Amino acid sequence: MDLSFSAADLAFRDEVRAFIAENYPADIKARFDAGVEPLKEDFVRWQKILHAKGWVAPAWPKEYGGTGWTSTQRYIFQEELGAANTPGIIPFGLAMVGPVIYTFATEAQKQRFLPRILSSDDWWCQGYSEPGSGSDLASLKTKAVRQGDKYIVNGSKTWTTMAQFADWIFCLVRTDSTVKQQEGISFLLIDMKAPGITVRPIITMDGGHEVNEVFLDNVEVPVENLIGQEGQGWTYAKFLLGHERSGIAAVSRSKKGIARLRAIAKAETIDGQPLIEDDSFLRKVNELEIDLTALEYTELRTLARESQGKGPGPESSILKIKGTEIQQAITELAVEAAGYYAMPFNRRAMDGANEPTVGPSYAAFVAPSYFNMRKTSIYGGSNEIQKNIIAKMVLGL
Ligand SMILES: Cc1cc2nc3c(=O)[nH]c(=O)nc-3n(C[C@H](O)[C@H](O)[C@H](O)COP(=O)(O)OP(=O)(O)OC[C@H]3O[C@@H](n4cnc5c(N)ncnc54)[C@H](O)[C@@H]3O)c2cc1C
Repeated sequence: MDLSFSAADLAFRDEVRAFIAENYPADIKARFDAGVEPLKEDFVRWQKILHAKGWVAPAWPKEYGGTGWTSTQRYIFQEELGAANTPGIIPFGLAMVGPVIYTFATEAQKQRFLPRILSSDDWWCQGYSEPGSGSDLASLKTKAVRQGDKYIVNGSKTWTTMAQFADWIFCLVRTDSTVKQQEGISFLLIDMKAPGITVRPIITMDGGHEVNEVFLDNVEVPVENLIGQEGQGWTYAKFLLGHERSGIAAVSRSKKGIARLRAIAKAETIDGQPLIEDDSFLRKVNELEIDLTALEYTELRTLARESQGKGPGPESSILKIKGTEIQQAITELAVEAAGYYAMPFNRRAMDGANEPTVGPSYAAFVAPSYFNMRKTSIYGGSNEIQKNIIAKMVLGL
């Protein structure tokens, strides 16, 4: 893996930087820099801008709309997006179901779904978890019974991120209860507008609405929406999870988070001195930065593997654990830095309320981010489960 920047890489970096400077809409940038809750439209508009340039899916094979970049170029691209604080790519279509479709689906399914994922005309959500089936996902009960050329689906999904915006949901469903749990699962693509689907919000402790319950009541799904073979859904589901986990590391976003943390610690004082000059606080920030650099190199190794055509292996669990621990630690230190001013939590301060914030404006976002980031060690498969995977698949214990 050679990651030293050649002249061509530096020229590429300039090209990416110039493109972002010219094309990143000022209103979206203002919302992201202020840390207020982003709109669906912000994500879609930014993804469409990247798509128009042909840059929305660097990880995809070129024949399906990927860029054909080297691992170094992909790294540079991510770095520049992170540094400019652009909206993250919503993963459900581009990073999750897209690779499943181009790897396992029929030609007709590829032609139908992939272009609309690339253009962000379809917003996808992930219907894996159910009440009682999270870590033990293979115990899922949502049932699909085949009747002629359709499946009749009944059951419920939970923690479905951004289902309130979704046009489609990719679902794991049970098509056979008589065989080993894993062998009776199928992978279905379901139109969220189909009669019988109800979405109910779950409001999280930061006051946000990201996750939902989804109920499926006699939903009719054409058989042509089955991916691959009936009963083989577990194989596609695991393939997808590898892609999901390697995407959770968020290195460039954490770099931005540490820069923001340093700015807060410069503004706050302790015994009349800037907090950032306090030895004990500074040591914690520096340690975090060292951990992040180590994570970055692990991510680069994964990128290098992927650019040789190898999918993410079980080491994506390491990226998931370390990446999420760092994201959480950054928000913990931000609460420590903001001190009492992190306490008066007014969610409306995040949405541009006309009341002034209590204390400095950066402190209004510190507690909600801290609470929101508790999710990262749970979603995408909890960190305890990732440790089990590393024990078995990497260490062979
Ligand atoms: C914010 C958020 C967004 C999410 N988005 C989605 C989504 O869009 N789509 C979707 O399908 N799912 C989503 N999830 C669900 C997520 O994948 C599950 O929450 C996760 O897999 C854990 O399952 P669980 O909540 O049922 O916890 P449980 O499985 O009940 O686990 C409870 C605790 O026990 C531990 N535990 C369980 N089994 C073991 C074991 N064998 N060894 C050691 N420890 C164990 C777990 O680590 C955890 O700490 C989301 C979750 C959150 C919090």
